[in-house]
Amino acid sequence: MRLTPVSTLSLLSFAVGLSFASSAQAAKPPAPNLSNSEFQQCLDGLKNSSKFRGVDSFTFNNYRPSEPDPSVIQSLNYQPEFQKDVWDYLSSLVDKERVEDGIRAKHQWSDTLRKIESRYGVKAEHVLGVWGVESNFGQTLGKKPLFESLATLSCFDRRQSYFQGEYANALKIVQKGDIAPSDMTGSWAGAFGQTQFMPSTFLELAVDFDGDGRRDLVNSVPDALASTANFLDNRGYRTGEPWGYEVKLPSGFWAASNRKDKKSMSHWRNQGLTLANGSPLPYDLNSAGLMLPAGKDGPAFLVGKNFDTFYSYNASENYALAIAHLSDLITREDSSKTDFMTAWPTDDPGISRQQAKDIQQALLDAGYDIGDVDGIIGDNTRTAIQQYQTSKGISPADGRAGQNFYRAIIGNSTPNRGQSGNQYQQPSNSQPLNPAPADRMGQLIQQQTSTPNSNSTQPSATQPSTSGNTRYRRVTDADGAVKLIRIDEGS
Ligand code: CA
Repeated sequence: MRLTPVSTLSLLSFAVGLSFASSAQAAKPPAPNLSNSEFQQCLDGLKNSSKFRGVDSFTFNNYRPSEPDPSVIQSLNYQPEFQKDVWDYLSSLVDKERVEDGIRAKHQWSDTLRKIESRYGVKAEHVLGVWGVESNFGQTLGKKPLFESLATLSCFDRRQSYFQGEYANALKIVQKGDIAPSDMTGSWAGAFGQTQFMPSTFLELAVDFDGDGRRDLVNSVPDALASTANFLDNRGYRTGEPWGYEVKLPSGFWAASNRKDKKSMSHWRNQGLTLANGSPLPYDLNSAGLMLPAGKDGPAFLVGKNFDTFYSYNASENYALAIAHLSDLITREDSSKTDFMTAWPTDDPGISRQQAKDIQQALLDAGYDIGDVDGIIGDNTRTAIQQYQTSKGISPADGRAGQNFYRAIIGNSTPNRGQSGNQYQQPSNSQPLNPAPADRMGQLIQQQTSTPNSNSTQPSATQPSTSGNTRYRRVTDADGAVKLIRIDEGS
């Protein structure tokens, strides 16, 4: 989350989920040369401007950066080289590992979640879904110093006015004592804490739920979860309603994907829609819109108002779908099958984060410089995949990490790490299909995959990664192809 109601498509380049943190550096424009004297002059001007009226001069001066951070301007103007299909996006966000983490969190925080449910009327699993997608249940908060990032963005390049407001708000947060200054780190664009709120959203909607008098979205899980519930409630959440359902379209049915065109459940029943398992549609949604993330041959959904509140967290339908799906799996407490009932229209489904790590480790071992083994398929990894595909004559050499590439590089003889990933059924229609043109995902995912908040240093290509927990042995098969066989496995 990140942007308040002014969210527009153009602003979405800031709406970057930490979950998508990319280790990519290659595709970034070069870091600009920013003049420090210009920067300091700009800060002098800001200090006396109306936007900073509520910030006292002690606070302003105390956290005033001594120089700008050019990397955030680099991130602002970053254009990813590769697009991501919806099934790749969903499979990396909603995998077995995240569902299991979510089930654990649900039990660990059950008392708090019950109190939050009764205070805000928001279902526990919906809060958990947001938490899991936003910050991996508090494990990924972002490490960029917020004042440096926001001050730099306030003085250079596009959207200065927007970032000036966020910079002032970030200063107000430490001035009020809610968050310790040393905890003010986050994404390059200024989203921070376990809820990944922008400072303006923090000031508007963060709550103190553990009763210590501070709204600490960095260190307090109760504060973070309650603030998420407060956000959803504020955006119009309907207590007791599901977010929606996966549905089955009757044969021959065609309608455009239009989440906003809400109709009654009777309408959809009359159109012949059922739940994905064939049961009649229930009447527990006030109204619902049809959503077809990959066109009419992929999974179909009817989504209600609560789905829209997920969407308002970070304006992307696929992002909201990840929250919705994750929350369903946490509700069912079942991590054994993380795909939808209808298969995506592809014969090469997406991979889990563990499978992504396995691929990265294999690429590292094969001498490709992919940066850290982080389970995130960023531009560096995709470039390496493309080179690997080219060198092995794999067609198309598209740099994509799907199940086919996973099998190609790991080798069919290894036990399928899909055990820790997604279990896919082969779709009956195996014709590859791109997402429907009306789908906004291409644009959105492009921006999300660009999240260059990772400051990771890049190990050299030949250095074995220390962050991967899987090791491989090289073997040559009968065709002379080199394959990597997993020899041990960490936790
Ligand atoms: Ca608190």
